[in-house]
Amino acid sequence: MAANSSSLNGTHVKTIAILAGDGIGPEVTAQARRVLEALNLDLAFEEAVVGGAAFFAAGHPLPPETLDVARRADAILFGAVGDPRCDALERALRPEQAILGLRAALGLFANLRPATLFPGLENASALRPEVARQIDMVILRELNGDVYFGEKGFRTAANGTREGFDIMSYNEAEVRRIATVGFEMAKRRKGTLHSIDKANVLETSQLWRDVVTAMSADYPEVTLTHMYVDNAAMQLVRNPGQFDVMVTGNLFGDILSDQASMCAGSIGMLPSASLRAWSGDNGLYEPIHGSAPDIAGQGKANPCATILSAAMLLRHSLDDEAAAKRVEAAVSAALIGGARTPDLGGTMTTSEMGDAVLAALM
Ligand code: NAD
Repeated sequence: MAANSSSLNGTHVKTIAILAGDGIGPEVTAQARRVLEALNLDLAFEEAVVGGAAFFAAGHPLPPETLDVARRADAILFGAVGDPRCDALERALRPEQAILGLRAALGLFANLRPATLFPGLENASALRPEVARQIDMVILRELNGDVYFGEKGFRTAANGTREGFDIMSYNEAEVRRIATVGFEMAKRRKGTLHSIDKANVLETSQLWRDVVTAMSADYPEVTLTHMYVDNAAMQLVRNPGQFDVMVTGNLFGDILSDQASMCAGSIGMLPSASLRAWSGDNGLYEPIHGSAPDIAGQGKANPCATILSAAMLLRHSLDDEAAAKRVEAAVSAALIGGARTPDLGGTMTTSEMGDAVLAALM
């Protein structure tokens, strides 16, 4: 139990921070909150402004009060940030800085992106239906290290040519930390873990591979396979059914998770979690999409990605697998029953889609 849970009449009330953000963020988080409330768990909700909404209300995309709410909570349900009215602001004040600030302040280093094709959505995938049907995996991406955070800059070589450089590195502790999440997740799923690297040419990857291999002795129930990232990208579209949990570094995970998401259908269907430990305390859960200003305020947004993010919150931060499965089954049943927002080829509004999921939950 997180230290921030409060006790009321002997029951432990878990606090969920809702940071709805901008554009369609408030529309989709409202539906996810309805679903969480319908589960009749001991949950308390605390809302706070973030992103462009926070900039206009408080002068900063991540005001200290919002960070306090996030820190106090057992888990954070995040909508999306991004507002075209903020495009001309200096970078530090842009809405998107809020999510980077939250990840850094809360030490969220493990990004989980499940990619699952729900029955009935085969034609939304970029893959052939019989291949798309195999997709049910989680890509686990390290968020705080790798080439994105190494020394970087521009320099001029002896012959006067300008060059850019970005240093790639991982240390053993960083690899162990993310690989632990990967092994633990694999243990709870199908017992297989693919570790993705480029150890044939990169020393960073060789160290990654050595550490993961050594750790596998502690997880005899998990079958570990190493795969080079170029092969993994190819296998992901050729035979995605072979993957269940993939663990990889920041750069490779960035690319592979976007590839996997489009294999699984609409952007409106894909949830994510960012964790700072396997236990999931203080985890942040959000749809992979942004604030979609083109459809904001029109009731066209698909809330399923956020509802499925709430299911991940139940699983990883509240340790309530049964409730998580109930929510996922309700989304699946609603889709099988024909519920479709415009991104899925239907006409339902955001709240009608929420109604359909709630009806399937009862
Ligand atoms: P986007 O994900 O917001 O939208 C891309 C396209 O997908 C749009 O056509 C949009 O209408 C559609 N779409 C997105 N979510 C949908 C949903 N739930 N249902 C139906 N259709 C949906 O990406 P973008 O347009 O590149 O970015 C818009 C803003 O969001 C930008 O300011 C960007 O920086 C921000 N952004 C924020 C996050 C985040 O908060 N984590 C992530 C990505 C982008």
